[in-house]
Amino acid sequence: SDNGKTYTTGLSSKTADGNEGDTADPAETSLLIKILGKGLVNTKLSLDIQQKNPNSPLHSVKTFEALHLKPELLKGIYAMGFNTPSKIQETALPTLLADPPQNMIAQSQSGTGKTAAFVLAMLSRVNVNLNHPQVLCLSPTYELAIQTGEVAARMGQFCPEIKLRFAVRGEEVDRNKRISEHILIGTPGKMLDWGLKFRLFDMKKITVFVLDEADVMIATQGHHDQCIRIHKLMREEESLDNIKQYYVKCQNEDGKYNAIQNIYGCISIGQAIIFCHTRRTAAWLAAKMTTDCHSVAVLSGDLTVEQRLAVLDRFRSGLEKVLITTNVLSRGIDIEQVTIVVNFDLPVDVRGNADCETYLHRIGRTGRFGKSGIAINLIDGEKSMAVCKAIENHFKKEIQILNTDCADDIE
Ligand code: ADP
Repeated sequence: SDNGKTYTTGLSSKTADGNEGDTADPAETSLLIKILGKGLVNTKLSLDIQQKNPNSPLHSVKTFEALHLKPELLKGIYAMGFNTPSKIQETALPTLLADPPQNMIAQSQSGTGKTAAFVLAMLSRVNVNLNHPQVLCLSPTYELAIQTGEVAARMGQFCPEIKLRFAVRGEEVDRNKRISEHILIGTPGKMLDWGLKFRLFDMKKITVFVLDEADVMIATQGHHDQCIRIHKLMREEESLDNIKQYYVKCQNEDGKYNAIQNIYGCISIGQAIIFCHTRRTAAWLAAKMTTDCHSVAVLSGDLTVEQRLAVLDRFRSGLEKVLITTNVLSRGIDIEQVTIVVNFDLPVDVRGNADCETYLHRIGRTGRFGKSGIAINLIDGEKSMAVCKAIENHFKKEIQILNTDCADDIE
């Protein structure tokens, strides 16, 4: 991508018949195949590059030489007994090594050479002159992380200056010393501890991100959120660039409710989040909407962690189209498919002044990856109009008036 980061996401396994396999856990299957060292499995047709930059020429390579690797890496590949690239390697490696870097999701059955492919990409993108983590590889389990690290060590055996470290359970770190290794391979929880909690390395300096067994990771409750969190931390700043911002003039709280009713048909086409300032307002709004037969989810501070997760799961899976929530919880929400955000109350600080940071966090998207979105701010008086103006001035982005009584405007 333009900002120089590669998100080499999702190299996952599929069983030979293309089914997800109803017997064994795919991460476990993949591990077993690796441990058994069965060697390369011949792919028939279960090879699938799901997402590539459309501008990239879809070329493939028939030899490792054609990849123009560092000679030491080529030596490492041959020392492992690889003569020619496997099918997935032939197809994926030109993209994985492309400049400028590109994102990729690839899928093929276990044992077809995916790990070797992304490890090669990881190794070839390290800048050994910089002594900080640049490559981050997330694995669903301790064992898989170790296996991947072993492949990296073997493939990089002639590049002794490339340093690797495992971020897995049992690995101790000196909390006062920044991590200097170039490549980190580990499990999401440990990675978050080191990168976010202890700040032992800078997530923003990661240029290659690998999510191994991506389908497994995304389907696993705890891992899902952690992976997305890590990914977010590496991305560029949030912005309002792709967001259309509106305000609606209302008389009072009931007027705001009328506005919500008028736009409900539009906002529930996709998914929407409505932010309220207090738990009381959130509960009031949810009750009113429910009475009017709108199906809404409510996320508020009085729920237990389990209850919150359950609410978010339902919303993520589309069971409810509208989520009502309070300020306090806005930071925890990270739902990509939300395209409309309604500020039932504009975010303000304790003094009642515009809280621009929270506004950005509620509404902003990370530029390149974010889809476009719509923000609707409900204004019920001079005070909130002033807050709205302050936000507009702060971001130097126009917030247009929207007349919710007028169907044309809403369209
Ligand atoms: P996957 O990640 O798809 O499960 P691996 O990368 O672990 O597959 O590769 C499976 C096996 O094939 C490993 O033993 C690996 O060393 C071997 N292998 C990978 N690429 C090649 C290649 N190009 N030539 C020969 N053997 C290979």
